[in-house]
Amino acid sequence: MKVTEHLKNANGKTLFTIEVLPPLKGDSIQTLFSNMDPLMEFKPPFVDVTYHREEYVYKKRENGLLEKQVTRKRPGTVGICAAIQNRYKVDTVPHIICGGFTQEETENALIDLQFLGIDNVLALQGDGIKSEGRFVPESKGNRYASDLVEQIVHMNQGRFLDDDLENANPTRFCIGVAGYPEKHFAAPNLKTDLKYLKLKVDLGAEYIVTQMFFDNARFFDFVAKCREIGIQVPIIPGIKPITTKAQSSVLATVFHIDIPEELADAVEDCKDNAAVKQVGVEWAVRQSKELIKFGVPSLHFYSMGKSDPIYKIAKQLF
Ligand code: FAD
Repeated sequence: MKVTEHLKNANGKTLFTIEVLPPLKGDSIQTLFSNMDPLMEFKPPFVDVTYHREEYVYKKRENGLLEKQVTRKRPGTVGICAAIQNRYKVDTVPHIICGGFTQEETENALIDLQFLGIDNVLALQGDGIKSEGRFVPESKGNRYASDLVEQIVHMNQGRFLDDDLENANPTRFCIGVAGYPEKHFAAPNLKTDLKYLKLKVDLGAEYIVTQMFFDNARFFDFVAKCREIGIQVPIIPGIKPITTKAQSSVLATVFHIDIPEELADAVEDCKDNAAVKQVGVEWAVRQSKELIKFGVPSLHFYSMGKSDPIYKIAKQLF
């Protein structure tokens, strides 16, 4: 079923949903299931699965020279979506990225998803390769998420890259996209970023999931600004509980978000990470209660491979 249908069927009740990461290469899928099993108590109607592109690593050879190797640390997004649908009978939302794919490869990947009975995708530009510093599209690939949305919409209309295909079966993907309450790091300002967010929606995206944030005021302002410029689709807030002392600065650096002073001070004052987890859970519960009151369609929790804090939060809310 489509994400938008799940949201509609909820009749204004806030849903519980999660995002999971494929296990590290070599790890078993059981690790993922062990993390997910307890969260099924809260009946997430859909689960997002992230996509991780290749990275370059440099290995020292016997002659002392460095050899550049390409590796993907977390392969398996599509297989994991199928396995989750099979085990839990819930819908999945694979993340589809522009980076590393030609349009032809994207089309083929989407055909695989269609055959697996996957009805939803989150269309993203994707993170740049770390060593490249900035996002570089493939030649004949999509540059922006809006280009990817356009390609998926064409497939939903039965228009594939091969013009000679006649009477092709249209796909029926429900398309979600990312939004940034504190603006995307590469955007010169929030107004410009929102202009491109609107473009994604105007092209056919049916809902938005936000980057994590720790200050609800930023989310409320973002939603108001979206509505002002005519973005009417559901906006789902992304929530991540802080679990370690280091995350105060790591999350701020990696995701380009602010950690409110009150939260940063509380984390700083913690004796150990067990105390940080407690602070993180309490903060996320407070945030979530306010967001539910605001009427958000779903609370979307970033598990990042750890379900324990999310379980504790959900137990108090759902
Ligand atoms: P876009 O919408 O393409 O925007 C990227 C930048 O370009 C923005 O600054 C925007 O303002 C600007 N822009 C957009 N369109 C245009 C245009 N036409 N002309 C000029 N400028 C434009 N990354 C992964 O690799 N894998 C994942 O699984 C993943 N999941 C994510 C899930 C969520 C909910 C979020 C919020 C992010 C996720 N990311 C993931 C990270 C994401 O890929 C990066 O943040 C990426 O840098 C931007 O992706 P986007 O889809 O928002 O890009």
